[in-house]
Amino acid sequence: MTLKISYNRSLMRNNTLALQSTAEYFCEVKNTTDLREALTFARSKNLAITVLGAGSNVVLKSNLFGLVVIINFKGIRHSIDGNDVVLSVAAGENWSSLVKYALRNNWYGIENLVQIPGSVGAAPIQNIGAYGVELSDVFVSLDAMDIRTGEINSLSHELCGFGYRDSIFKRKRKKKYIILEIKIKLSLTANVQCDYPLLSEALKMDSQKSTGLITPHRVARTISDIRRRKLPDPSIIANVGSFFKNPVLKSDSVSRFLECYPLAPVFEINGAEYKVAAGWLIEKCGLKGFRSGNVGMSSEQALVLVNYGNASSRELLQFSESVRQQVLSVFGISLELEPTVYGSF
Ligand SMILES: Cc1cc2nc3c(=O)[nH]c(=O)nc-3n(C[C@H](O)[C@H](O)[C@H](O)COP(=O)(O)OP(=O)(O)OC[C@H]3O[C@@H](n4cnc5c(N)ncnc54)[C@H](O)[C@@H]3O)c2cc1C
Repeated sequence: MTLKISYNRSLMRNNTLALQSTAEYFCEVKNTTDLREALTFARSKNLAITVLGAGSNVVLKSNLFGLVVIINFKGIRHSIDGNDVVLSVAAGENWSSLVKYALRNNWYGIENLVQIPGSVGAAPIQNIGAYGVELSDVFVSLDAMDIRTGEINSLSHELCGFGYRDSIFKRKRKKKYIILEIKIKLSLTANVQCDYPLLSEALKMDSQKSTGLITPHRVARTISDIRRRKLPDPSIIANVGSFFKNPVLKSDSVSRFLECYPLAPVFEINGAEYKVAAGWLIEKCGLKGFRSGNVGMSSEQALVLVNYGNASSRELLQFSESVRQQVLSVFGISLELEPTVYGSF
C-alpha cells in the first residue's frame, strides 16, 4: 500500500469550527488510485467512510469512527464553444480561487459566489449560494464515485435534485457518492445579477463615489467587501458561516407571519414559497452577540455561531438547540441546521 493512513488523527485543523475531534483512521487522497486504495482499506476493516473537503460546513463531534477521507484532487480544464465556457474542475480545488480564476479570464456567472470558503467538491452538496446566485444556475453535471461499488457515475443537473441549500447528496444519496469533479457552464458575456437588496444598495452607494458600468468584477469586489464586513473570518474566530438555513414558508404562512411582523425580511423563492431571514429571527430574540461560555451568536452577523475557543461539540450543539428553541417559542418557526453533523460524543 502506498497511501498513508493515520490512526487516531486530530481533525481540529480540518474543521473551521476548530472542534476537537478525532478520526479513527484518516487519509488524504489526490487521485482515483489513492481513493480506490482508501476504499479497499475501509472495506477490509468494515469501516464507515466520512468525506471532508475544507471542513467549513460540518460540526464534528468528538469521535469519528471509521475512515475520514479528505478529497484533494486538483485540476481545471476548459473548453469554449461560441459564448459558452465549460469548466471541468477537480473536487479538491478551492471554490473561491476558482471564482477568481474565472474572473481573471473574463468568464462570467459565478462572480456572486466569491469568497465562499471550501472545496469545489462540496459545492453541490448544499448547492452553495449567495447574493442571488446558486451553483445550480451554472451547474452542468458531476462525476462521483459510488462508495459501495467503486464505480464512477456521471450525474446530470436533474439527477442532483438541487434546492435551496439542498441536493440529493443531503437526502436520499447521503454518503453514497464521493464527488470527484464538477462541470459548470460560464459565459463570455457579462450578465450581472445584482437584485439582491444588500448588493444593490452597496452598488448604489459605490456609484455615488465612482461612475461606470456594473461589471462582474465590480460585483465580485463589492460582495467581497460586504462579506469581509459582515462575516467573522474563521481563521480568527472559528465558525461555519450561517449556522441555520433561512426557513422556507408557504404563501399562507408567510402572509400570517407578515401581518405580525411587517418589517421582517422575506424573499420570494418561486411564487408559492418564501424564505424568511433566519438572522433577523435570531436578532429579534435578542441573541445577536449573545455569548454563553465558549460559544455565541456573532455580534457581526446573528446567523453565525462562533466558537470563541475550546468549545466542545456538545456545548456548541446544546447552545444551538437553545437558540432554535427560543426562535420556535417566539415565532413558531423551526430552524434547521445548515452544516452537517458527523460523529459521536
Ligand atoms: C465564513 C463562511 C462563510 C460561508 N458562506 C457561505 C455562503 O455564502 N453560501 C454557502 O452556500 N455556504 C457558505 N458557507 C458554507 C461552506 O463554505 C460551503 O458549504 C462549502 O461548500 C463547504 O465546503 P467544504 O469543502 O468546507 O465542505 P466540508 O465542510 O468539508 O463538507 C461539507 C459536506 O460536504 C461533504 N463533502 C465534502 N466534499 C465532498 C466530496 N468531494 N464528495 C462528497 N461529499 C463531500 C461532506 O461530507 C459534508 O457533508 C460558508 C462557510 C464559512 C466558514
